[in-house]
Formats: sequence, C-alpha cells, structure tokens
Amino acid sequence: MAIVTPLEIGSSGRRRLALASPATLEPIGDIEVHTAADVSAAVDRAQKAQVDWGVLPVSERARFMVAALEVLLERQEDILSTVTLETGKPRTEALQMEVFAVGDALNYYANNAEQILKTEKRKLHGLIRLMKRLRIVYRPLGVVAVISPWNGPFVLAINPAIQALMAGNAVILKPSEVAPFSGLLAGEIFAQAGLPEGLFQVLTGDGETGAALCKAGVDKVTFTGSVETGRKVAVSCAEQLIPCTLELGGNDAMIVCDDVNLDYAAAGAVAGAFMNTGQYCCGTERVYVVDSVADAFTEKVVGRVAELRQGVRGEFDVGAIFWPRQLEIIEEHVADARERGAKILTGGRRNPDLDGFFYEPTVLTDVDHSMKIMQHETFGPVLPIMRVANEEEAIELANDSAYGLGGCVWTRDNRKGIKIAQRMESGSVCVNDMTMTYGIQEAPFGGRKASGIGQVNGEAGLRGYCHAEPIVVDRRRGKMSASRYPYRAKSDAGLQKLMKLLWGTSLGRWLF
Ligand code: NAD
Repeated sequence: MAIVTPLEIGSSGRRRLALASPATLEPIGDIEVHTAADVSAAVDRAQKAQVDWGVLPVSERARFMVAALEVLLERQEDILSTVTLETGKPRTEALQMEVFAVGDALNYYANNAEQILKTEKRKLHGLIRLMKRLRIVYRPLGVVAVISPWNGPFVLAINPAIQALMAGNAVILKPSEVAPFSGLLAGEIFAQAGLPEGLFQVLTGDGETGAALCKAGVDKVTFTGSVETGRKVAVSCAEQLIPCTLELGGNDAMIVCDDVNLDYAAAGAVAGAFMNTGQYCCGTERVYVVDSVADAFTEKVVGRVAELRQGVRGEFDVGAIFWPRQLEIIEEHVADARERGAKILTGGRRNPDLDGFFYEPTVLTDVDHSMKIMQHETFGPVLPIMRVANEEEAIELANDSAYGLGGCVWTRDNRKGIKIAQRMESGSVCVNDMTMTYGIQEAPFGGRKASGIGQVNGEAGLRGYCHAEPIVVDRRRGKMSASRYPYRAKSDAGLQKLMKLLWGTSLGRWLF
C-alpha cells in the first residue's frame, strides 16, 4: 500500500487501518489489527492442526503444494492485480518476482523436500563406529510465525510458509500492514488448494500484532523486515528461548572491474538499482567502478536510465514508492549527498508529472562514505557511483558497511570474480548479475553483520524449520552399559594406552 490511516475502532473492538494505493492515492480497503487474544486463539488452532500434519509423509504434504501451484496458475491475474494495486510496481515485476518465484518455490519444494528431509544414516568415525549407529531424523518444530515486509508482499509472505509447511509445521502469517492484501490472498490460495483448516492462518495487523505473535507460544519466528524491528524480534525470541531467522536490510555493493563488458555491467547496474523501484532488499545501493572504465560506465548507465518509463498504468518500467515514509528517507539521503558535494546526473526529485509517490530514477557521482546514501539503506530508485583506483580499493569500500546482505562483481574473468566474491563480507554475491540469489531455490539465503541471522531457502532453510534429532543406536543392544561400573584405575590406564595407540602416531591418526 501506501498510506495507512487509523480508523475508528469497529464493533469487533479491534483497531482498523485504511489503505490507499501509492500510485493513484485511491482507497483500496481496510484491515483489522488483530489483538493478542486473536493471536493466542490462532496459535491454539495451529497447534491442533499441526498434530496430524506433522506425521503426514512429506510426499503427502507435497500434494497440497502441487494443488496450490495449480491454484496459483489459475489465479495469477488476481495476484498480479492485488500486488500492483497495493504496491504500484510494474506488472512485469509482480509477475517475475512474485508469481513466477512462488510457482518455482511450490514446485521445487514439492519435488525436493522429501529427499532433503528424509532420515539420514550417518557414518561414524574412529572406534565409535564399531559401537554405535547414528540416524538423524528431521522433525517439525510445531507452529512457525512468518512476519513479512511490504516490498515483496506475496513472495516474502508465502515462500517461508511453503518451506515451514513442507517441513511439517503449521504457519501463522502476519503480513505487513503496508501491503496486507497479498498475504490474505496467500491464505485464500492455500485454502482453495485444500490445505487442512488451521494450518495456514493470516492475521492482519501492525507491529502490535507482530509483537504479540512472537510471544504467543510459537516455536520459531521467521522474520523479514528492517534491522530496527529485527532487533526487537530477536530480543523477544531470546526471552521465549525460541529460534528465529532474521532477514534484514542491506546496502549492497556492486564492484565493476577494469576488464568488464561495459554494456552488460551498465545494464546490470540499472536493473539492480531500479528493479522494484529500488525497494529490493538485495538491490544495488552502491557502485564502485575502477577509474579506467568509470567515465564510460557512468555514461552508459545514464543513457539507459534516460530510457526508463515511470508510470501508473499500462506498460512502464519503474513504479511508485510503496509508502510515504520510504519517500522521505530517499529524499533525505539525496539531499544529504547533494549538500556534501555529490553530483546528480539525472533525477534527484519526486516525479512532478505523477500524483502518487513517485521518485525519479536517480544517478549520482562524486559520492563518498561520509554520505548517508553510502552508509545506510536508501531503498529507492537511486544509484550512487563511486570511482575507485583499483579492485582492492573497491573491495575495501564494499566491506566498509554495517550491512552484509548481497553484492555483485562484474568482470570478464569469472575466476577473478569468484575470488573477489570470497572477500566480500556479505551473505551472498553474484558474479556478472545483479543480486538474485533469493530466486535460486537451492541457494541458502541470509545476511551477515546487521543484515540478519540464519538462512532461509534450499536445504539449510527447509531443515531450519525442523529439529534435527540424532538417534544413536547401540550395536550391542546395550551390553556395554553392563560393564561401566565399578570404575577401576586399571581400566583408566587401559584407556590411556588406547588413546596413545589411536592418536599418538600419524598412522594411528590416519587409521582412526
Ligand atoms: P518493518 O521492520 O517495518 O516491518 C516488517 C514486519 O514487522 C511488518 O509485518 C510489521 O508489521 C512487523 N513488525 C513491526 N514491529 C514489530 C514488532 N515489534 N514485533 C514483530 N513484528 C513487528 O520492515 P518493512 O519496512 O516492512 O520492510 C522493509 C525492510 O525489509 C527493508 O529494510 C528491507 O531491506 C528489508 N527486507 C529484507 C529482506 C531480506 O530477505 N533480507 C527481504 C525484503 C525486505
């Protein structure tokens, strides 16, 4: 959405929030703010529903995901219109980032979860393998809370839910109050797919509902949102002693090497900075370009930006800023950069031709690390380009950040790109593409430093919704415990001799 306005408390006794489109400023509906009592009742329902779901074979759970995929294909126009209405993003971005990405996730987990979650027999090392067998069983946690942000209102609500459900949990989703209708639609899709009642519930509301959910007896919180709220969620989870994953903000760097294909790199910078109107957690927020190619690169970027069409209806490339507070942050960062000597090559203001919350695609040069635009997440259609002497300086500056979510390196030499990627302090890095790791189901996704804790997606993400229970089986059916007592000095001496034999020589260390 865009504008969130409190309404009178309704007959239900709950607060209500009215929403308006950020692109047209027209009202688009209102939501209830669910209370702590509502949250508690939802957790009860979820706990009951999870009992049967948790013991259902993964292949059976997968059938519901395939059914949800069929509903998604059928109802894609509903999803597109809901997402575009409440965010003002271009239809193509809603199609690629939200509908396609969710279809891919449903299909991937339906096909692969059984393999990822199957009981593992693990070989043991040394002498212990003569005595014990180990198997690891992936057991669901119970009820998982998904708290989601507004910038990818459908995909970021439903993708964690798919994984938590496939792992055998019930899910309670608290979508962002800024774009709640996509989350509600996720609920409709699962219901239409026949998911048993209570397994996936959506509770609308704001921070109050989110805070109540963290404390309502859920078994894990998977949170996507700002660093500030992430800290509060972490504290709350620490108090309950429950695990959480925190997928937080970023300030991603792009490094442009001197051997780069300039056309591709310029196109990548434009997509990285302006996709989702820059409101993309892994959006390109800072570019470091090596001096020898800086002028040519910048010229190509500005040329491409001039071709971007900003709009509301029909075909356009860059949409609205999803809510007014974000627009204020963007304006503040650009004003600060301007005051400190940055040059604005294009944009640098609200779009005067459009009534909603539109900020023109903006390119800045002559920026440095004293500026807010380089230090903090701007989350808008703004691309600051900084000239550096060489790749070493680029790496140093890229790492000079409180954040560490994503990043990218551009070079014709993939091996060099991978080496640079390994020196970047970020959760993921792409070589010769904008950061798009979240869209690759097999890739574990998560931030470092202030950008988060834990990972979602793929094997690590799916198993993160489980408790990995080791079951250790004695090969001699318990016979060894009969010889445990009494303790004797002779047995201790025997163990010490054995240790010497096992680890006292390189042959012993190699054998055992
Ligand atoms: P936000 O932190 O304001 O809100 C996120 C969610 O938390 C909302 O549903 C909100 O109602 C809820 N919330 C607010 N207070 C809460 C509390 N005390 N306890 C529990 N829940 C509470 O974030 P936002 O503005 O909606 O999202 C934008 C931010 O999200 C950006 O910083 C962006 O980078 C980040 N983000 C990160 C990722 C990632 O994967 N790392 C993905 C998308 C967005």
